[in-house]
Amino acid sequence: MTARQYDVVVLGAGSGGLAAAFRAAAHGAKVAMLEPSALGGTCVNVGCVPKKAMWLAADLAERIALAAKLGFDVPATPALAWPQLLQRRQQYIDNIHASYRRRLQETGVAHIARRGRLLDARTVECDDGMRLQARHIVIATGSHALKPALPGAGLGGTSDDFFALQAAPSRVAIVGGGYIAVELAGVLHALGSEVALLVRGQRLLGGFDAELAGQLAENLRAQGIGVHFDCRVQALEQREGRIHARLDGGPGDATFDTVLFATGRAPSTGGLGLEQAGVALDDTGAIAVDAFQNTSVPGIFAVGDVTGRAMLTPVAIAAARRLMDRLHGGQADAHLDYDNVPSVVFSHPPLGSVGLGEEAARRRFDMVTTHHSRFRPMLQALGDGQGRTLFKLVCAGEEQKVVGIHLLGEGADEILQGFAVALKAGVTLRQLQDTVAIHPTSAEEVVLMR
Ligand code: FAD
Ligand code: NDP
Repeated sequence: MTARQYDVVVLGAGSGGLAAAFRAAAHGAKVAMLEPSALGGTCVNVGCVPKKAMWLAADLAERIALAAKLGFDVPATPALAWPQLLQRRQQYIDNIHASYRRRLQETGVAHIARRGRLLDARTVECDDGMRLQARHIVIATGSHALKPALPGAGLGGTSDDFFALQAAPSRVAIVGGGYIAVELAGVLHALGSEVALLVRGQRLLGGFDAELAGQLAENLRAQGIGVHFDCRVQALEQREGRIHARLDGGPGDATFDTVLFATGRAPSTGGLGLEQAGVALDDTGAIAVDAFQNTSVPGIFAVGDVTGRAMLTPVAIAAARRLMDRLHGGQADAHLDYDNVPSVVFSHPPLGSVGLGEEAARRRFDMVTTHHSRFRPMLQALGDGQGRTLFKLVCAGEEQKVVGIHLLGEGADEILQGFAVALKAGVTLRQLQDTVAIHPTSAEEVVLMR
C-alpha cells in the first residue's frame, strides 16, 4: 500500500497537537493531524474551558450573595437554570471548534478524523488502514482520568462526568485533594451542592506552598465545604439509587447522590504502537523525552500531557511551538524551559503560584526569607464575606531574589501573570518594593510586602 507523504504527522488535536500543526504549517511544512474526537482535546472539551465557564458561574453566585449584603434587591437564593448555562457553555465551545476548522483550512493542515498508531519511525497507520509517512512524527495524545482500584469504583465518575451533569447533585463526594478536586468542590458548592472533599493525605494541593494550601482549606471550610483529611474510600455500593461510601476516617460511612474521583491523570500511551516503533516510556509510564522533546527514536517527538511533565495547556502549546520552531523554523536551540511555569488553581478564591514554595526553597537554598500579606479584600469586607487573602513571597540569598510568588485571593488568577514575568526575569524583593503601588487593589500588596 502506498503511504501519503508529509513533512509532519501529528497524533492528537488537543492543545499540544494543534499548536504543533499550526506552527509547522506557518513555517511552510506539509502537515497532517490525526484526531478521532473533538478538536481542542481535553482543554477545550472537558477541561480548562468548560471548567472556567462553571467557575465563572460559581463566582457570579458568590457575588450575587455579596450584592444582596450591599443592599441590592436580589433573592436570597437566586435560581440557576443549568440548561441555559450548559447551552451557553456549549455555544462557546462550538465557536472554538469553528475557529479551529477555519484555521485548518487557511493553513492547509490536513485534518484526518482517525486514531493513529506508529508502524515504525516514519510511518503512522490510521484505524481505517490508511498510511502516512513523515520525516517528523509528533505524539500529542494527552492524558486520561484515573480511578482508584477499589470495589464499586465504577459507581463514581471523573471530571468528564462532572461536565455531563444536568443539575447540581444534592450531596456530592469528591475524592482527591489536587487541582481538579479543589476546583470541582468549589464550583459545586457555590452552585448549590452539599460537598464533601475526601482527601487521603493531610493537606490540599501537594506541590504548592503548604501555608497557602492550609489557608485555602480554611477558606473552603468557612464556605461550608466538608474538607476531610486522612480519609480513604474503601468501597462504593449502590443503595436505593444512591451511592454508599465506606470510608476509613473522615465523616465515616456516608451516602451521596454523586461521587467524583479526581485522583490524577495518566498519559494516554495505549494502542499507539510505541513498543513496535521502539519509543521508550519513563518509570511513570509517560513517554520519555529530553529537553528538546526528542523521544528515544530519532524523528519521533512528544509534547504535552503524554510526556507527564506539568500537565497544563500553555505548557503543551509552548513545548509544541518551540519544537516546530526548531525543526522547521531554523531555530536550532528552541526548547521550553520548564522552570518557573506559573499556574492557577481555580478554587474560590483562586490560588496562583509561580516558582518555589517555602519548603522547596529551603531545600535548595541556604538563606531563605518569606514575606506575607494577610487581608480581607475590600468587597468581602464591605459585604461581610468569609473570603480571606494570603499573599506570600519566598526570597533567596543576600540580595533576596524572589524565587516564589504565591497568591491566594480574589483576582489572583489575573494578577499572577505579570509578576510571573518579573520572577522569570530575576526580580529581587527590593525591586518589587521600588515599584509604586496601584491603590486600592489587592495586587498592590505584592509590592508593599516587607
Ligand atoms: P489533550 O488536550 O488531552 O489532547 C490529546 C488529544 O489526542 C485528544 O483530543 C485525543 O482524542 C487525541 N488522541 C488520543 N489518542 C490518539 C491517537 N491514537 N491518534 C490520534 N489522536 C489521539 N490546564 C490549564 O492550563 N488550565 C486549566 O485551567 C486546566 N483545567 C483543567 C481542567 C480539567 C478538568 C482537566 C481534566 C484538565 C485541565 N487542564 C488545565 C489541563 C489541560 O487540559 C491539559 O494539560 C491539556 O489539554 C493537555 O494538552 P495535550 O495536547 O497534551 O492533550
Ligand atoms: P493532581 O495530581 O493534582 O491530584 C491528584 C489527587 O488525587 C492528589 O490529592 C492525590 O493524593 C489524590 N490521589 C491519587 N490517587 C489516589 C487514590 N488512589 N485515592 C485517593 N486519592 C488519590 O491530579 P488532578 O486529577 O487533580 O489533575 C490532573 C492534572 O491536570 C493536574 O496535575 C494539573 O496538571 C492539570 N490540571 C490543571 C488545572 C489548572 O491549571 N487549573 C486544573 C485541573 C487540572 P496524594 O497527594 O496523596 O498523592
